[in-house]
Amino acid sequence: MNIIQLKLMGEQSLYSCFKCRTHLSRNVDIISKSFQSNNGRAFLFSHVVNIKTGPQEDRQLITGLYLVADVFCSYCGQKLGWKYEKAYEESQKYKEGKVILEDIKIVEEIWITTKLKLMGDKTGHRMYSCFQCGTPLSRHDDIVSKSFQSTKGRAFLFSHVMNTKTGAREDRQLITGLHLVADVYCADCGVSLGWKYEKAYEESQKYKEGKVVLEKIKIVEEKW
Ligand SMILES: [Zn+2]
Ligand SMILES: [Zn+2]
Repeated sequence: MNIIQLKLMGEQSLYSCFKCRTHLSRNVDIISKSFQSNNGRAFLFSHVVNIKTGPQEDRQLITGLYLVADVFCSYCGQKLGWKYEKAYEESQKYKEGKVILEDIKIVEEIWITTKLKLMGDKTGHRMYSCFQCGTPLSRHDDIVSKSFQSTKGRAFLFSHVMNTKTGAREDRQLITGLHLVADVYCADCGVSLGWKYEKAYEESQKYKEGKVVLEKIKIVEEKW
């Protein structure tokens, strides 16, 4: 049996079989989280690996008649959901070839790829980590400025942060002018930490582009 190990890029997370933890899909492959199965909520994925399908059969679902096949974990055989082989109604054709995995049958695993590397680093580094979960976020050496302000008080500008994810980008009027920014969250616990400057419209502020502000009250300094 050939089990595929999914490779994640950056801040992706993956879904694996709840029983044996075989990789199944990634968060970026989710089309919709608002499907229903007999076991509760279910997700529609565009692409799933390490599954096998049962026999195809016509099945009447809430949204119409489909040709479906049950989907099983190819390692442990656990039933995970179903695959839409064919949709008979035109409006449902987008589901063809796609796979439903039931929420209770899968586990989301967020991979903090840089965490271990950092923890194994030589000691003596001054680090900043998430105040809520302790995930390492940046190093003291990566501070560009300590004199930034947020609505919650003092904030630091970092040239490089890790283990974070960003929200939607939006233009925001800040004290120093208009910037395209995205809020920044801890990739581990999800708490809001600050924002990232995606783009500065004023020439004098261009140095901030790609850099991240973390609010002082959201980070904890640690010595490693
Ligand atoms: Zn399994
Ligand atoms: Zn956290």
